[in-house]
Amino acid sequence: MRILVVEDERRVANFVCRALRENAYAVDLAESGEKALEMASETSYDSILLDVRLPGLSGIQVCRELRDARIDTPILMLTARSLIEQRVEGLDAGADDYLTKPFAVAELLARVRALVRRRLNKSGPVLRYADIELDRHRRRVTRSGQTIALTAKEFALLEFLLSRAPDVASRTEIVEHVWDTHFDSETNLVEVYINRLRQKISGERHSKIIHTVHGVGYCLKVAE
Ligand code: CA
Repeated sequence: MRILVVEDERRVANFVCRALRENAYAVDLAESGEKALEMASETSYDSILLDVRLPGLSGIQVCRELRDARIDTPILMLTARSLIEQRVEGLDAGADDYLTKPFAVAELLARVRALVRRRLNKSGPVLRYADIELDRHRRRVTRSGQTIALTAKEFALLEFLLSRAPDVASRTEIVEHVWDTHFDSETNLVEVYINRLRQKISGERHSKIIHTVHGVGYCLKVAE
Protein backbone atom coordinates (compact mmCIF):
# COMPACT_ATOMS: atom_id res chain seq x y z
CA MET A 1 0.00 0.00 0.00
CA ARG A 2 1.41 3.29 -1.05
CA ILE A 3 0.22 6.61 0.29
CA LEU A 4 0.79 10.22 -0.73
CA VAL A 5 0.89 12.71 2.14
CA VAL A 6 0.37 16.34 1.13
CA GLU A 7 1.38 18.66 3.94
CA ASP A 8 3.61 21.73 4.10
CA GLU A 9 4.10 21.81 7.86
CA ARG A 10 7.21 19.78 8.55
CA ARG A 11 6.23 18.76 12.06
CA VAL A 12 2.83 17.38 11.06
CA ALA A 13 4.25 15.80 7.90
CA ASN A 14 6.99 14.01 9.84
CA PHE A 15 4.58 12.73 12.43
CA VAL A 16 2.10 11.43 9.86
CA CYS A 17 4.74 9.85 7.62
CA ARG A 18 6.40 8.12 10.54
CA ALA A 19 3.11 6.72 11.85
CA LEU A 20 2.22 5.35 8.43
CA ARG A 21 5.65 3.85 7.81
CA GLU A 22 5.59 2.16 11.20
CA ASN A 23 2.42 0.52 10.03
CA ALA A 24 3.98 -0.88 6.88
CA TYR A 25 2.71 1.67 4.38
CA ALA A 26 4.99 3.07 1.73
CA VAL A 27 4.77 6.85 2.01
CA ASP A 28 5.62 9.74 -0.31
CA LEU A 29 5.48 13.36 0.78
CA ALA A 30 4.47 16.38 -1.29
CA GLU A 31 4.97 19.78 0.32
CA SER A 32 2.78 21.74 -2.06
CA GLY A 33 -0.41 21.24 -4.01
CA GLU A 34 1.39 21.60 -7.32
CA LYS A 35 3.84 18.86 -6.39
CA ALA A 36 0.96 16.66 -5.22
CA LEU A 37 -0.81 16.96 -8.57
CA GLU A 38 2.38 16.04 -10.37
CA MET A 39 3.08 13.02 -8.15
CA ALA A 40 -0.51 11.76 -8.15
CA SER A 41 -0.64 11.82 -11.93
CA GLU A 42 2.58 9.81 -12.18
CA THR A 43 1.90 7.20 -9.50
CA SER A 44 -1.23 5.28 -8.68
CA TYR A 45 -1.53 5.71 -4.92
CA ASP A 46 -3.80 3.64 -2.72
CA SER A 47 -4.77 6.72 -0.80
CA ILE A 48 -3.96 10.44 -0.50
CA LEU A 49 -3.86 12.41 2.76
CA LEU A 50 -4.44 15.99 1.78
CA ASP A 51 -4.07 19.01 4.03
CA VAL A 52 -6.51 21.81 3.26
CA ARG A 53 -4.14 24.66 4.07
CA LEU A 54 -1.24 24.66 1.67
CA PRO A 55 0.80 27.46 0.15
CA GLY A 56 -0.24 28.10 -3.46
CA LEU A 57 -2.98 25.71 -4.52
CA SER A 58 -5.22 24.80 -1.59
CA GLY A 59 -6.12 21.23 -0.70
CA ILE A 60 -9.63 21.86 -2.00
CA GLN A 61 -8.27 22.96 -5.38
CA VAL A 62 -5.92 19.98 -5.52
CA CYS A 63 -8.80 17.64 -4.78
CA ARG A 64 -10.97 19.20 -7.47
CA GLU A 65 -8.18 19.01 -10.04
CA LEU A 66 -7.47 15.38 -9.27
CA ARG A 67 -11.12 14.47 -9.72
CA ASP A 68 -11.31 16.55 -12.92
CA ALA A 69 -8.33 14.56 -14.18
CA ARG A 70 -10.29 11.37 -13.37
CA ILE A 71 -7.88 10.29 -10.67
CA ASP A 72 -10.16 8.48 -8.26
CA THR A 73 -7.68 7.61 -5.51
CA PRO A 74 -9.42 7.80 -2.11
CA ILE A 75 -8.69 11.18 -0.49
CA LEU A 76 -8.67 11.93 3.21
CA MET A 77 -8.75 15.68 3.89
CA LEU A 78 -6.99 17.10 6.91
CA THR A 79 -8.97 20.12 8.07
CA ALA A 80 -9.01 22.62 10.89
CA ARG A 81 -11.19 21.60 13.76
CA SER A 82 -13.56 24.55 13.84
CA LEU A 83 -14.24 25.05 10.17
CA ILE A 84 -17.29 23.12 9.10
CA GLU A 85 -17.35 24.91 5.72
CA GLN A 86 -13.91 23.49 4.98
CA ARG A 87 -15.15 19.95 5.44
CA VAL A 88 -18.25 20.52 3.35
CA GLU A 89 -16.16 22.13 0.65
CA GLY A 90 -13.70 19.24 0.74
CA LEU A 91 -16.41 16.62 0.41
CA ASP A 92 -18.03 18.61 -2.39
CA ALA A 93 -14.68 18.78 -4.16
CA GLY A 94 -14.56 14.97 -4.15
CA ALA A 95 -12.79 14.00 -0.92
CA ASP A 96 -13.91 10.67 0.54
CA ASP A 97 -13.48 11.56 4.17
CA TYR A 98 -11.91 14.17 6.43
CA LEU A 99 -10.03 14.25 9.68
CA THR A 100 -9.84 17.34 11.86
CA LYS A 101 -6.55 18.52 13.30
CA PRO A 102 -5.23 17.74 15.81
CA PHE A 103 -5.86 14.02 15.52
CA ALA A 104 -4.63 10.87 17.22
CA VAL A 105 -2.46 8.42 15.30
CA ALA A 106 -4.92 5.62 16.00
CA GLU A 107 -7.71 7.55 14.33
CA LEU A 108 -5.57 8.48 11.36
CA LEU A 109 -4.62 4.83 10.85
CA ALA A 110 -8.23 3.68 11.19
CA ARG A 111 -9.39 6.19 8.56
CA VAL A 112 -6.61 5.18 6.19
CA ARG A 113 -7.44 1.50 6.60
CA ALA A 114 -11.09 2.25 5.85
CA LEU A 115 -10.16 4.17 2.70
CA VAL A 116 -7.81 1.50 1.46
CA ARG A 117 -10.42 -1.15 2.12
CA ARG A 118 -13.01 0.75 0.15
CA ARG A 119 -10.60 0.89 -2.75
CA LEU A 120 -9.91 -2.84 -2.53
CA ASN A 121 -13.62 -3.49 -2.57
CA LYS A 122 -13.83 -1.58 -5.82
CA SER A 123 -10.82 -3.26 -7.30
CA GLY A 124 -12.53 -6.28 -8.77
CA PRO A 125 -14.68 -9.30 -8.27
CA VAL A 126 -11.98 -11.74 -7.19
CA LEU A 127 -10.45 -11.86 -3.72
CA ARG A 128 -7.41 -14.06 -3.16
CA TYR A 129 -5.35 -15.17 -0.23
CA ALA A 130 -2.84 -18.04 -0.34
CA ASP A 131 -4.53 -20.79 -2.39
CA ILE A 132 -8.06 -19.52 -1.72
CA GLU A 133 -9.92 -17.63 -4.41
CA LEU A 134 -13.34 -16.07 -4.06
CA ASP A 135 -15.19 -14.73 -7.07
CA ARG A 136 -17.89 -12.30 -6.00
CA HIS A 137 -19.66 -12.16 -9.33
CA ARG A 138 -19.80 -15.85 -9.91
CA ARG A 139 -20.29 -16.59 -6.22
CA ARG A 140 -17.63 -19.23 -6.42
CA VAL A 141 -14.93 -20.26 -3.99
CA THR A 142 -11.97 -22.48 -4.81
CA ARG A 143 -9.04 -23.76 -2.83
CA SER A 144 -6.08 -24.99 -4.86
CA GLY A 145 -8.39 -24.88 -7.86
CA GLN A 146 -11.03 -27.15 -6.32
CA THR A 147 -14.52 -25.71 -5.96
CA ILE A 148 -15.92 -25.50 -2.45
CA ALA A 149 -19.69 -25.24 -1.98
CA LEU A 150 -20.63 -22.65 0.63
CA THR A 151 -23.94 -21.30 1.88
CA ALA A 152 -24.56 -17.55 1.44
CA LYS A 153 -23.62 -16.82 5.02
CA GLU A 154 -20.45 -18.88 4.88
CA PHE A 155 -19.57 -17.12 1.65
CA ALA A 156 -20.09 -13.67 3.21
CA LEU A 157 -18.02 -14.65 6.22
CA LEU A 158 -15.14 -15.89 4.09
CA GLU A 159 -15.40 -12.79 1.90
CA PHE A 160 -15.00 -10.57 4.94
CA LEU A 161 -12.05 -12.56 6.30
CA LEU A 162 -10.40 -12.41 2.87
CA SER A 163 -10.87 -8.64 2.67
CA ARG A 164 -8.85 -8.38 5.89
CA ALA A 165 -6.36 -11.20 5.40
CA PRO A 166 -3.85 -11.64 6.90
CA ASP A 167 -5.10 -9.10 9.46
CA VAL A 168 -7.46 -10.05 12.22
CA ALA A 169 -11.17 -9.41 11.76
CA SER A 170 -12.70 -8.77 15.15
CA ARG A 171 -15.85 -10.57 16.17
CA THR A 172 -17.65 -7.20 16.32
CA GLU A 173 -16.59 -6.29 12.79
CA ILE A 174 -17.63 -9.70 11.51
CA VAL A 175 -21.06 -9.25 13.05
CA GLU A 176 -21.31 -5.74 11.59
CA HIS A 177 -20.31 -6.79 8.11
CA VAL A 178 -21.78 -10.24 7.80
CA TRP A 179 -24.93 -10.15 9.87
CA ASP A 180 -27.75 -7.64 9.86
CA THR A 181 -29.14 -5.59 12.73
CA HIS A 182 -31.24 -8.48 13.97
CA PHE A 183 -28.20 -10.42 15.03
CA ASP A 184 -28.45 -11.61 18.61
CA SER A 185 -25.01 -10.97 20.04
CA GLU A 186 -25.63 -13.37 22.91
CA THR A 187 -25.53 -16.37 20.59
CA ASN A 188 -22.42 -18.21 19.46
CA LEU A 189 -23.49 -18.05 15.81
CA VAL A 190 -20.19 -16.57 14.64
CA GLU A 191 -18.27 -19.45 16.21
CA VAL A 192 -20.66 -21.98 14.67
CA TYR A 193 -20.18 -20.50 11.19
CA ILE A 194 -16.44 -20.23 11.59
CA ASN A 195 -16.28 -23.92 12.46
CA ARG A 196 -18.38 -24.90 9.45
CA LEU A 197 -16.22 -22.76 7.21
CA ARG A 198 -13.09 -24.35 8.64
CA GLN A 199 -14.38 -27.82 7.90
CA LYS A 200 -15.25 -26.88 4.36
CA ILE A 201 -12.12 -25.03 3.38
CA SER A 202 -9.61 -27.10 5.29
CA GLY A 203 -11.19 -30.44 6.10
CA GLU A 204 -8.62 -33.19 6.09
CA ARG A 205 -6.98 -32.40 2.78
CA HIS A 206 -5.75 -28.88 3.34
CA SER A 207 -3.73 -27.10 6.00
CA LYS A 208 -5.44 -25.01 8.63
CA ILE A 209 -5.92 -21.43 7.46
CA ILE A 210 -8.63 -19.86 9.66
CA HIS A 211 -7.12 -19.04 13.01
CA THR A 212 -8.77 -17.92 16.23
CA VAL A 213 -7.21 -14.93 17.93
CA HIS A 214 -8.47 -15.38 21.45
CA GLY A 215 -10.51 -12.52 22.83
CA VAL A 216 -10.35 -10.66 19.50
CA GLY A 217 -11.60 -12.51 16.46
CA TYR A 218 -10.35 -14.53 13.52
CA CYS A 219 -7.84 -14.29 10.73
CA LEU A 220 -6.74 -16.11 7.63
CA LYS A 221 -3.10 -16.98 7.84
CA VAL A 222 -0.77 -19.44 6.19
CA ALA A 223 1.28 -21.47 8.65
CA GLU A 224 4.88 -20.28 8.77
CA1 CA B 1 -0.70 23.00 6.08
